[in-house]
Amino acid sequence: METILLLANSEADGSLAKPALEALGAAKALTASLPGSKLVIGLIGQTVQPAADSIATCGATAFLGAVGADFAPSRYATDAAAAEALAKAAQATVILAPATSRWNRVLPGVAQRLGGRADTHVAGLSASNGTLSINRWYYRQRMEAVVQRTQRPWVILVDPGTQPAWQGERGTVTLQVVPVNLPESCKRTTVVGVREPAADAQTIRPDATLLLVAGAGWTKKQADGQPHVKDAEKLIFDCLKLARASLGSSKSLVDLGGEGQAVLAFLTHLNQIGQTGSTPRHPKGLATCCHGEEPHTVGWRFINERRAINLDPNCGWARGKADVLYVADAFAVMSRVNQLLAANAGA
Ligand SMILES: Cc1cc2nc3c(=O)[nH]c(=O)nc-3n(C[C@H](O)[C@H](O)[C@H](O)COP(=O)(O)OP(=O)(O)OC[C@H]3O[C@@H](n4cnc5c(N)ncnc54)[C@H](O)[C@@H]3O)c2cc1C
Repeated sequence: METILLLANSEADGSLAKPALEALGAAKALTASLPGSKLVIGLIGQTVQPAADSIATCGATAFLGAVGADFAPSRYATDAAAAEALAKAAQATVILAPATSRWNRVLPGVAQRLGGRADTHVAGLSASNGTLSINRWYYRQRMEAVVQRTQRPWVILVDPGTQPAWQGERGTVTLQVVPVNLPESCKRTTVVGVREPAADAQTIRPDATLLLVAGAGWTKKQADGQPHVKDAEKLIFDCLKLARASLGSSKSLVDLGGEGQAVLAFLTHLNQIGQTGSTPRHPKGLATCCHGEEPHTVGWRFINERRAINLDPNCGWARGKADVLYVADAFAVMSRVNQLLAANAGA
């Protein structure tokens, strides 16, 4: 019998973001599969009533809130104090939260304050005979483990994209505001602004159907003995725009920027996929001008259908790392792909 607390922050407009709704979906499924358990919602933010109302019919027995301007920004000291207060008010034995950068950095510390344990990057939850298990990946997604714990409270950070988001009717909720003791020392850090790329310069789109990966080959000398970086830039950017794809990169290509060589203007280290990069989740992936080496392809673990274009028939993709390998010139293939995408968009 568990008391499951779903912990999440409201967005600036008072709503709940998709990762929070996914964690709620997991919390609800877990409550249903652990007989005698109950679900409590704990929300943190400047205003949380709209967020609570949007999930009014999720079946929670209580809606708690840590509310006010102090809880608007992502700030360790105030987020940790709020999470601790909500967990204690709910008498939670299991705490689920979205594994966003905000909660990943705060909740392990909260687990320590509560005498509990925390697991980050959880990709699956299940329960049988009253015992809760989680799944998570280790060693850069090369090994999957099933973990059970007796220690409570157990803080579980659910990786975005791994669970279906909760959907249901809105309603009106009676929110219980939980007082949080906040000494001045908790408020020393202030957020003075947010810097982010303009919407059309945003190349990382976690919800995209397609991940397009660019490798260092795009900057190499081609058949005519010259590099064609400007052409490469246009082909990749057009494909991103037309297919609404997300952009990934190999390490070699993003590193070239640091070495002062001509590279794609819209590429940063945040685009890097792999062992020292990210492991995004997309239904499809297309690698272009990228060799398909192990430290790179380890980041493709959660790409369901993998394709690659490479001039080299002996590249890494040919060794079982891609479902389909096109042995072809990526400049020619992507130019034709973009023509077809544009024709489709116009049709
Ligand atoms: C500890 C460690 C961690 C690492 N972590 C990462 C990581 O997280 N992510 C990562 O990406 N790498 C990582 N690496 C580096 C990795 O091993 C590779 O060196 C790197 O991924 C290679 O990048 P690339 O395939 O873009 O470049 P290259 O190896 O230079 O390959 C370029 C490819 O482009 C092809 N090509 C050229 N022109 C064309 C054309 N016109 N059409 C089609 N194909 C063409 C070539 O045939 C070639 O196969 C790591 C390495 C180490 C040691």
